[in-house]
Amino acid sequence: MIEINSPNDLFDRKNFTYDVDSKTTKLIEVLAPYTFQNKITCNLKGCHTPHKHGYLILIEDGRETNIGKDCGRTHFGENFVISRDLERKKRERLQQINKLLSIQAEKESLLKRLDELSNRPYGVAWAVRSKINLRKAIGQDVFNRLSERARRNNLTIQEEKERKPAEIKRLHELNPRSKREDHRYYQIDVGSFTSLDGIAFDFQNVYWENLDKDIKEILDCDTARLTTPQLRKLITKANNIEMVFEQLNTALSQLIRFFTPENFNLLRYLSLDDKEKDKLQKLAWNVNKGEASLGWLD
Ligand SMILES: [Zn+2]
Repeated sequence: MIEINSPNDLFDRKNFTYDVDSKTTKLIEVLAPYTFQNKITCNLKGCHTPHKHGYLILIEDGRETNIGKDCGRTHFGENFVISRDLERKKRERLQQINKLLSIQAEKESLLKRLDELSNRPYGVAWAVRSKINLRKAIGQDVFNRLSERARRNNLTIQEEKERKPAEIKRLHELNPRSKREDHRYYQIDVGSFTSLDGIAFDFQNVYWENLDKDIKEILDCDTARLTTPQLRKLITKANNIEMVFEQLNTALSQLIRFFTPENFNLLRYLSLDDKEKDKLQKLAWNVNKGEASLGWLD
């Protein structure tokens, strides 16, 4: 059977012909159906309609061309088109089932990768634990503010300073139409977190609800009994597996990069409470001395 997966599979065929006149030459046979993402034009003279779904056609003199589905129906009849569509759908289903079967054949290695991703040093289990430990160490409020910054990717910490009366007066005189009050405070950049992406990432949810659950659903399914919508859903999940593995790996390395003395030094600026600020300062010192670090949070 001829497989047509891209427009070039048509155009590169030895006897392919453009612009065929169906009045002077006979279209004999449909060689293969195709479906493309982008439209191509029908090669019948006077038609040239762009289409995504069409057929590779054999002409009586041995040349070949392509026509869109509507011309296919005109020249070969409704029943033919329907049977070709059925055949296409059957073939699609077979390809999808083969994909699931090939994943099921990799069961052992897939489960091993899944387990390794969670249980290796600084894997997902570590990430979940270390974020719980971090929340305990820095307090819920500061952790929430940190998470909020992570969500907004707001890395730079600014601090508000108050100007001295003489300085306020000077600035006001420079611009007499401004209000005095507007010059009273100013912001300085204290520093920037190196990475907060690992803080924003929901390891638990992505690993268990997305990756683990999807993989086990694919491994446990009976491919012979899947309805078309079920099959389609599982294929989408199957196509995402490698991407989710990669997402988790990236987020893990980002979370590892969060646990630096520089980042801990900035945490006290997220607190509004003096006692808590002191506590965070001490924590930062301990991280600096290496007493509280990745290992401590493990
Ligand atoms: Zn046409």
